[in-house]
Amino acid sequence: MKLFAHSKNTPTFDRIATKPMEVKDVASTALAQNPVIGRMLEYNHEQLVFCNDNETGLKAIVAVHNTILGPSLGGTRFWNYNNETEALIDVLRLSRGMTYKSAVAGINLGGGKAVIIGDPKKIKSEALLRRFGKFINTLGGKYITAEDVGVNTRDMEIIHNETEFVAGLPVSMGGGGDPSPVTAYGVYVSMKASAKEAYGTDSLAGKKVLVQGLGNVGMHLVEHLAKEKAILSVYDISEERVKIAVEKHGAKSISPDKMFDLDIDIYAPCALGATVNDDTLAKLKCSIICGAANNQLADEKVHGEIVTKKGILYAPDFVVNSGGIINVYYELDGYVRERAMAHAEKIYDTTWNIIQTAKTEKIPTYMAANRIAEQRIEAIGKIKVRF
Ligand code: NAD
Repeated sequence: MKLFAHSKNTPTFDRIATKPMEVKDVASTALAQNPVIGRMLEYNHEQLVFCNDNETGLKAIVAVHNTILGPSLGGTRFWNYNNETEALIDVLRLSRGMTYKSAVAGINLGGGKAVIIGDPKKIKSEALLRRFGKFINTLGGKYITAEDVGVNTRDMEIIHNETEFVAGLPVSMGGGGDPSPVTAYGVYVSMKASAKEAYGTDSLAGKKVLVQGLGNVGMHLVEHLAKEKAILSVYDISEERVKIAVEKHGAKSISPDKMFDLDIDIYAPCALGATVNDDTLAKLKCSIICGAANNQLADEKVHGEIVTKKGILYAPDFVVNSGGIINVYYELDGYVRERAMAHAEKIYDTTWNIIQTAKTEKIPTYMAANRIAEQRIEAIGKIKVRF
């Protein structure tokens, strides 16, 4: 029995990064004929579930991208999308991203994501969340949800009334609690692995690091870096957060208009996505980019190439910040923070391997990370069909 049959015309998983023409043609033809399944075909999604409930106003889409490594896991985004197509594209893109993140992190999870369409401030209610929980439950564990933009720990508790397939619960409910310390530790070890490549030593002592964003992850990262005697420049839109970093960790406060003119060694984006773009790359003087923010490259292909050409070592964001998903993974099996931290420590080796693969194969680091993820899924997929 073939669980994952791949014909010549089917876009196989390992073709995602370097899609041959005929696969693109199949996808675009299918998209023209069928805008939903056509989009699923493009990135080989397994399943899409559309949910509607007139009583509560719930409109949601659950996307299961790939379950070769395990149940699909990814947060639920509650967002006021302009239209359904925007929501559909977001859930497809984000669920695929989760497949790669978990695969490269070495955990047994597939990629999934859910979106709820609407303004959470206006329509979020206990009934709506519980109805959503009921829909998740119908998937029988094929999709496990967690927090994302617009959805918090309390909401997870409410959803949990209707389904056990919820992660990101508070410690009091057997969950892992705030994943940020684990994420920050992963960023820190990833930065050390990058430093080993760039400077021949993984010590960050005396290295000039710019941390943008001093939230849950950024502040924990600053703490690690200060302990190692890195020279810290920081910026956050919150003056209060900057004050803490300056007073507690000896960081220097930087104004946003000067941030990218600084002479630094390492840039750590820990706030928003897309900060590695045409404008910032024209100014950035650093040898490493390594931070927690998701989707740091404004355009993965374009800016992934430019970064490489400029001789900047870019540690792929979904590898660097995988401590968050690692933390959630250990929640599924009776949470012990030490186990999550021990696994997060491996992000050092993963980063190192990706850098070496990129060098050997003469490809950008983000592409090397994608390949390593795809190879793992391919290899495990093969043993899964054997008894
Ligand atoms: P957070 O909301 O706690 O912190 C974000 C910080 O960024 C806040 O202090 C905010 O004031 C600041 N900020 C917002 N806009 C800014 C701007 N324009 N310039 C500078 N600072 C700005 O978030 P977090 O949990 O620390 O996560 C940080 C990033 O890492 C996010 O992109 C998140 O998606 C990503 N991430 C977080 C985790 C996790 O475990 N928390 C896991 C994976 C990825």
